[in-house]
Amino acid sequence: MKLNEYRKKRNFAATPEPQGATVTEKKGNGSLIYTIQKHVASHLHYDLRLEWRGVLLSWAVPKGPSLDPAVKRLAMQTEDHPVEYAGFEGVIPAGQYGAGTVMLWDRGTWQPESADVDASLQAGEIKFTLEGKKLQGSWVLVHTRGFGSKPAQSAWLLVKHRDQYATTKDVTQGEPRSVASQRLLAEIARDGGGDVERASEGDQAGKARSATSAKPGRGPNQADRA
Ligand code: MN
Repeated sequence: MKLNEYRKKRNFAATPEPQGATVTEKKGNGSLIYTIQKHVASHLHYDLRLEWRGVLLSWAVPKGPSLDPAVKRLAMQTEDHPVEYAGFEGVIPAGQYGAGTVMLWDRGTWQPESADVDASLQAGEIKFTLEGKKLQGSWVLVHTRGFGSKPAQSAWLLVKHRDQYATTKDVTQGEPRSVASQRLLAEIARDGGGDVERASEGDQAGKARSATSAKPGRGPNQADRA
């Protein structure tokens, strides 16, 4: 379907990332893949990916997900990725697109609240349920006007709905390791011949923020900025 942009950006002779087989849409009620990859590239971010129509819809969330319904996290929609990408953890070599270290931070399945995800994408509001190892329960992605220089058409907000899984605990700090290998970014970088120091910065990121994130007075309409 629409992996052209994904493939155009990458040199598969140089990166271990999957090229992606032909797009195959699931028929019937097969469960849909959900994954979040923690990616330390030029900037640290968390790549949220939701399988739909044979590809992974993708959003880069600079601060990662928050389990606090009062916190809105900026999520920039990025190019669709092949479903095989949901299994990728490792090092993207220097000089390649997205060069850096990728960790499989969470994985599982997702369920759209409304069966017509194309209509939800078009309307700019996708309500869904996650069944991951770290993230569960009800969430929403809301299309929003852009911030600053970010292109408006790709800016969304990721927000946790109030349910039994909502909490003010910082899940990115509390659960820093790979769901697949239990490694930290620095260990993945070391094993893959990547930049260990840079990856280690990714492991440390957000520690100061975590210490102050429970402060009262954060308005429900105030979005975190990238
Ligand atoms: Mn990324």
